[in-house]
Amino acid sequence: AKAAGRRTSRFFEPAMEAEVRARRVLETDLRQAITDGGFEVYYQPCLSLQDNSITGCEALLRWRHPQRGMISPADFIPIAEETGLINQLGEWVLTTACREAATWPDHVKLAVNVSPVQFKSGTLALKVITALAASGLAASRLELEITEAVLIRDDDAALAILHQLRDIGVRIALDDFGTGYSSLSYLQRFPFDKIKIDRCFVTDLASPEGSSSIVQAVVNIAADRRMTTTAEGVETEQQRELLRALGCSEMQGYLFSPPKPAADIRPLLTTHRQD
Ligand code: C2E
Ligand code: CA
Ligand code: CA
Ligand code: CA
Repeated sequence: AKAAGRRTSRFFEPAMEAEVRARRVLETDLRQAITDGGFEVYYQPCLSLQDNSITGCEALLRWRHPQRGMISPADFIPIAEETGLINQLGEWVLTTACREAATWPDHVKLAVNVSPVQFKSGTLALKVITALAASGLAASRLELEITEAVLIRDDDAALAILHQLRDIGVRIALDDFGTGYSSLSYLQRFPFDKIKIDRCFVTDLASPEGSSSIVQAVVNIAADRRMTTTAEGVETEQQRELLRALGCSEMQGYLFSPPKPAADIRPLLTTHRQD
């Protein structure tokens, strides 16, 4: 058994070392990019399924790596979270996006993703207040998107932070609903304004054994608890029609627009015509 153990570790070590090294390089590059301004915030519009008006935009972080080109947030956010760099990065996104949104028409809201690490840092509320004050954006126009990951362990602490944020006047959306640890009981215990229905349910909507009954259930519970629903990743006209028929409030997705730089989104917000 001893020999086998040694053989196993010899087999895995080089691969693990390479992985650790790659992460360390990416971490160094991340720190550098934070100093150099290597990031940009893109915005994706969110539309009412009732009248097709643009109700808001979600801020999505982009990293232009000097050698590797555009790196997806899915690839660097986990590292930023492990290293704590997400706190600085998240604060930058919040400040930048609030400043941008303050130039939009008043009815257009801004949604900003908040990492569980930021949520638990103890300084989120203060950072939100600071970003709002610096930009002049009304609190009621800011929506924070959190995931279920922040709710699973310390219920009471999470609840206290959510109430703190609501006291500021910002809205809270539950992101990626239906993935991971999702539990319907969260919807009862926590004060959300909005549920974002994950793209996997939207993709699956039109198939025979599809997810329409799940989406219907979520929409019903949301309506019952006075929350709105946003469907993520809407790519086809058929999906849009099904979601509208199911009573979903809003949609986001490539069908209307992918995330784009601020300069490309701004004109859309004033020229887009609703039904
Ligand atoms: P998310 O919050 O669920 O954001 C939605 C993702 O779906 C975005 O990917 C968006 O570009 C993509 N998307 C939108 N419409 C469609 C569509 O019709 N089809 C498809 N296939 N995809 C669509 P993105 O921008 O790569 O972001 C990935 C994830 O990274 C986000 O998922 C979010 O969890 C995280 N993220 C992005 N920006 C931030 C940030 O500023 N802070 C934090 N903490 N996380 C962020
Ligand atoms: Ca989101
Ligand atoms: Ca999402
Ligand atoms: Ca997602």
